[in-house]
Amino acid sequence: GEPGAIVLVDLDRFKEVNDTLGHHAGDELLGVVAGRLRDGLRPADTLARLGGDEFALILPRSDAGTVRRLLDELSAALAHEVVLDGVPLSIEASFGVALYPEHGRDVEELLRRADAAMYHGKRGASDIVVYAGEEMAAHSTQWLVVQAELRHALARDELVLHYQPKVDLRSGEVASVEALVRWQHPQRGLLPPSEFLPAAEQSGLIEPLTAWVLRRALADQAHWTSTGRCWSVSVNVSARNLEKPGFAEFVAGLVAEYGTSPGQLLLEVTETALAADARRAAQTVVDLSSRGIGISVDDFGTGFTGMSQLLGLPIAEVKIDRTFVADVLDSPQSQAIVRAVIALAHGLGSRVTAEGVETADVAYWLRRAGCDEAQGYLYSRPVPWLEIPMYEIT
Ligand code: C2E
Ligand code: CA
Ligand code: CA
Ligand code: CA
Repeated sequence: GEPGAIVLVDLDRFKEVNDTLGHHAGDELLGVVAGRLRDGLRPADTLARLGGDEFALILPRSDAGTVRRLLDELSAALAHEVVLDGVPLSIEASFGVALYPEHGRDVEELLRRADAAMYHGKRGASDIVVYAGEEMAAHSTQWLVVQAELRHALARDELVLHYQPKVDLRSGEVASVEALVRWQHPQRGLLPPSEFLPAAEQSGLIEPLTAWVLRRALADQAHWTSTGRCWSVSVNVSARNLEKPGFAEFVAGLVAEYGTSPGQLLLEVTETALAADARRAAQTVVDLSSRGIGISVDDFGTGFTGMSQLLGLPIAEVKIDRTFVADVLDSPQSQAIVRAVIALAHGLGSRVTAEGVETADVAYWLRRAGCDEAQGYLYSRPVPWLEIPMYEIT
């Protein structure tokens, strides 16, 4: 049959309201919640009151993505302030979701699973939990969890930036630092970007995430500049950011707000984000550059875009992907690629940075080949900016 879902909704602070303001306030709260849920549902959906402070939603003909969007809207609608007995409250609810047919084929089983999901949610950080059972395979459902938690992470400031220096191969000094985002997850510890960026990129969350990273990086830069370090800062941005109209203006506005210099900010964009059909991205690059903000082409050599497609664009830096750097001492092909990229980039007036430099021998080879800057575990892993050595790394 068609996909569908059963969702249990449980209010988080109902008992508190009942106990402190009395039953009439509790009843009024349930009425408000029922009204808001009903208003948010579609004609074919069903809202049921299960007793206590629990509701059930039956959502026919809905896949995981549709369910997620609907629940996002419902939880946003619920969150609007309600005044009970003169006391303003925000309504928070937990959702337990079971998807048909992945999690069960009859109502009873789906309800049991939705209940299990909600029970887990109550003890965790997230307000939307999908019961994915033993399978856990359903990609979409895990995605729902990360997406819901990430929204909280942004609101609760659980993201952190680590910085990895780029070292000038001639002087041996730190030339600039790259911001790399991590998620300090309350249960799972420090998570690398691979654990949450895909979900952020698929949903709209990459926009607030990039905005958060830019703000934090510029604030940190203002701080280290005031302590005598003149490092420029690199921030990674996604294709989706570049496609958003007004992005260049937005970034320039932030630079002005933090009182830093546009020439000291570099945005790293992957080669594929600048592919020939990405017209709007290319426009944004030109716009950023005209405002003095530099563009770096990340992971160069891994896409199939090629230097020729970047020819018309104002590129400040080309970063050679670490797959070529890692085996440059052993592989004649990698040597040829690295030399070609350096020649082309220099011919176009761009700086070249090699990423993934792990040994002094590789750094030496790169320096002799004319590479400008290097980045990698040889110098430093990504660390909080205060842990970056101030002068000369050898
Ligand atoms: P990237 O921009 O290519 O960043 C380099 C990645 O290689 C980082 O992984 C870094 O920790 C790792 N690395 C650095 N030096 C070495 C080395 O010597 N050897 C090896 N084996 N690895 C090295 P990380 O921090 O896990 O980031 C992964 C990717 O996530 C980044 O790749 C970037 O594409 C993306 N990313 C990170 N932060 C952000 C962000 O704030 N916004 C966006 N849109 N993407 C981000
Ligand atoms: Ca409750
Ligand atoms: Ca990068
Ligand atoms: Ca890279």
